[in-house]
Amino acid sequence: MAVDAGASEGDIGARLHAFVRELFPLCRSITGAGTRKTLDAIEQLVPLQRLEVPSGTKVFDWEVPQEWNVRDAWIKNAAGERVVDLQRHNLHLVSYSMPVRARMSLEELRPHLFTLPEHPRWIPYRTSYYRETWGFCLTHEALQSLREGQYEVCIDSTLAPGSMSLGEVVLEGESSDEVLVWTHVCHPSLANDNLSAIAVAAHLARSLAERTRSLTYRFVFAPTTIGSITWLALNESRVHRIRHGLVLASLGDRGPFVYKRSRRGNAEVDRVVEFVLGQAGSTEDFAPYGYDERQFCSPGFDLPVGRLTRTPNGRYAEYHSSADDLEFVTAHSLGASLRLCERICAVLERNRRYRNLLPKCEPRLGPRGLYRNASGRNPSQFEHALLWVLNQSDGTRDLLSIARRANIEFSLVAQAADAAREAGLLEAVT
Ligand code: ZN
Repeated sequence: MAVDAGASEGDIGARLHAFVRELFPLCRSITGAGTRKTLDAIEQLVPLQRLEVPSGTKVFDWEVPQEWNVRDAWIKNAAGERVVDLQRHNLHLVSYSMPVRARMSLEELRPHLFTLPEHPRWIPYRTSYYRETWGFCLTHEALQSLREGQYEVCIDSTLAPGSMSLGEVVLEGESSDEVLVWTHVCHPSLANDNLSAIAVAAHLARSLAERTRSLTYRFVFAPTTIGSITWLALNESRVHRIRHGLVLASLGDRGPFVYKRSRRGNAEVDRVVEFVLGQAGSTEDFAPYGYDERQFCSPGFDLPVGRLTRTPNGRYAEYHSSADDLEFVTAHSLGASLRLCERICAVLERNRRYRNLLPKCEPRLGPRGLYRNASGRNPSQFEHALLWVLNQSDGTRDLLSIARRANIEFSLVAQAADAAREAGLLEAVT
């Protein structure tokens, strides 16, 4: 399954990195213009259904907040110089800061200034979605260079009734069973968390749109936490269609893959991702901390949704700081993440349980032309796969478990199953 015929691994990685670079300057938050512009950019790649959920909408125990937009924000010293300036970096302003126009001393200003003393040249990322306050983030070096005296503070923002924006790409398949691919779009200028996964998800959608699909795919681009809570509240009656789900995040750093299982722990998607990952990463059990898997795996939903990242949130120093920048994510990592997602989807598409229709002793393969089907492949490998499929297909074991047990490549097992089905030896179990 190729994204574009002829596109090499390096080409696609470079394209993903260019997409991250394009979106990096936008000032995203859980609502507002930056997030809408991000959805506009995704829409250039794939047809997106847009949803605007009004502020104040009740969603389970939560409420969609007021819409936040910001035009400018700065702190000027007594000489009128901007010592902290939103125009220089989006992380300088605490997201959801209320509008402010004030003069104050450095001592009065200090409680509103946030730094990372352990990384004195990095700007931290801070938010205040549900508490009306304001603040600025700056490097610790910049804070230390501020002199006593009067400062002028301007936050030209609005917090007002509006809406929260979500985008969905739906790719219909033969079956209405769905694969949910979820990505958060609410962080400002942070490359790994989560422009990397936005780029991978958008390009995965584009790649899947170009092929026939047995499953239906639903990609959702939404703010984290309030976005997934809202989406679940609006879609409660149809979430039973979700057969497999993946939350994608932080897929551009140099670390190996980490898959976090669904709360169920043994969902098909858990087994498939673990199998496809092989030696390329590790898997860990569900924990109610992280990204939107917390909502999908809340006990009232308990959906088969796992989470795929490279280095998980909070486990790298650059996390939620200005060091999560365009150099921190690499074209190679982004390209390899997309390929991995494509391989996961390819297995989800073909993994089925079959029943052997001639289960008493081995059926004769020669008269059914099954040896000829082996042309172009090592015949012994194909026959080997065929024997395993016929022996194990009692309606309870899927192709993935057969591939694992036989230690044979999944695609060869799936090819053997197709051939046996065409020869009338197997029927799919639904
Ligand atoms: Zn984050």
